[in-house]
Amino acid sequence: MARLVVMGGGVSGHTAATFAKDWLGDEHEVVVVTPNSQWNWIPSNIWVGVGQMTKEEVVFPLAPVYEKAGIDYRQAKAVSIHPNGGENSDKEYITIEYTGQGKEGQTEEITYDYLINATGPKLNFGATPGLDEGHTVSVCTADHAVHANLELQKVFDKAKAGEKQKILIGTGHGMCTCQGAAFEYIFNVEHEAKKAGVRDNLDIQWISNESFLGDFGIGGLHMKRGGYAASSRLFAESLYSERGIPWIIGAHVSKVEAGKAHYELLDGSTGELEFDFAMLIPPFAGVGLKAYDKDGSDITDTIFAPNGFMKVDAKYDAGAYENWKASDWPKTYQNPTYPNMFACGIAFAPPHLISKPMTSVNGTPINPTPPRTGMPSGIIGKNVAHSIADLIKNGPDAHLHEASMAEMGAACVASAGKGLTDGTAAALTVYPVVPDFEKYPGLGRDLDYTFGEIGLAGHWIKHILHHMFIYKAKLKPGWTLIPE
Ligand SMILES: Cc1cc2nc3c(=O)[nH]c(=O)nc-3n(C[C@H](O)[C@H](O)[C@H](O)COP(=O)(O)OP(=O)(O)OC[C@H]3O[C@@H](n4cnc5c(N)ncnc54)[C@H](O)[C@@H]3O)c2cc1C
Repeated sequence: MARLVVMGGGVSGHTAATFAKDWLGDEHEVVVVTPNSQWNWIPSNIWVGVGQMTKEEVVFPLAPVYEKAGIDYRQAKAVSIHPNGGENSDKEYITIEYTGQGKEGQTEEITYDYLINATGPKLNFGATPGLDEGHTVSVCTADHAVHANLELQKVFDKAKAGEKQKILIGTGHGMCTCQGAAFEYIFNVEHEAKKAGVRDNLDIQWISNESFLGDFGIGGLHMKRGGYAASSRLFAESLYSERGIPWIIGAHVSKVEAGKAHYELLDGSTGELEFDFAMLIPPFAGVGLKAYDKDGSDITDTIFAPNGFMKVDAKYDAGAYENWKASDWPKTYQNPTYPNMFACGIAFAPPHLISKPMTSVNGTPINPTPPRTGMPSGIIGKNVAHSIADLIKNGPDAHLHEASMAEMGAACVASAGKGLTDGTAAALTVYPVVPDFEKYPGLGRDLDYTFGEIGLAGHWIKHILHHMFIYKAKLKPGWTLIPE
């Protein structure tokens, strides 16, 4: 019997663990270590953040699902990895610290034959002074989104009473990813403001680290439209203009105070923006797992990149932007030092940015870091699980499954307002996620598979996806047939 331990039960880890268990059956063990008792369909947090869904609609308890699947669930956070064993044994293990199941604070060692790191991001609010002090809100977790809506409603109430209010939404640091989530939030706030009849009393302002609107951390995209290739910049600028939302881009939010954000721009100039309500996405880092050798020496740097994400089969020494290639991106997500260790979803260390690197004239990096959105995170999780299932069943020479973001398309449906008759969403597909300028000279992508459209149909798709992915994550009948 082999044991697979999955650290992190989010989009990627839950996908990996459930497929691995399905393929491995009762002959082998799958253990999931994850600190929350509930699974969260994170994309719908946007709707919780504007009061259009409750927290209960976007979460469900994990324990019964794992019990049904025969997965050993530990409500705990992984703390350290010991890939060469410890003092008394050569067997590899991780240490965990319980956060629930009546064992809060207790630590334990769990041995493994295969390990998946799917711990997602640390929401690094501390990177921007003041961002972690309650002056701004976030929608990154369901609880954050509940709080965001409470604060938003206060602003709406003041606007209803005739007070002018300032809303600021975007990214809270020069090295943020997840512009798409902030994009969805600003349009949902604007949509709700109109419905509540308060739009005229609200100044809604966008701020982000993108060097152009519509970069989204993937260097933007082009889509075929009426015989020409329209850029996502044109698409995004139109959407913001139509809704009367001004934008500040190429911005590193350097400090936040009560009601005020300070920022630096690519041209080196600085500015301040006042706000009554601000939702600023924090930068992401790895969750801070440590790694130790058999003798207790720290080998964290061997396994993890400096940003805390796990090293996998990527080319990390590609150097300057001019040298970057699609083939730098990982395919199997296997750790180069320890072949029984894999990382998937946000937890793997990308080789470099996807967007063009930019630095302000003062030397401050201001560029979006690469997104690893839901679809790639799910696909990578499933492929890693497939590789491990094959390694366990067929031995160490088994072929590893590949899921490079440079050979993978992704669909993203970005809500721009909820409502079955007046909702809208921007449905975008991009192929490949990481542009390949050798294969697709010029724009780096296959325009036959890269398109974008905004409208009511997109909203319905987004709504259907909400129910479909929660259905799938609950492992209801036929769940394996629903794509990632
Ligand atoms: C507001 C918002 C909206 C979004 N909307 C979309 C969208 O519309 N479409 C889309 O494709 N993507 C969207 N995304 C991105 C999507 O949520 C991520 O791509 C996806 O969640 C990444 O999956 P993951 O498994 O890597 O990380 P996560 O889903 O974050 O899962 C990580 C898991 O690891 C756990 N964990 C953390 N630390 C530890 C530890 N030490 N030990 C064990 N477990 C740990 C966490 O609790 C969590 O359960 C959105 C993101 C946000 C924040």
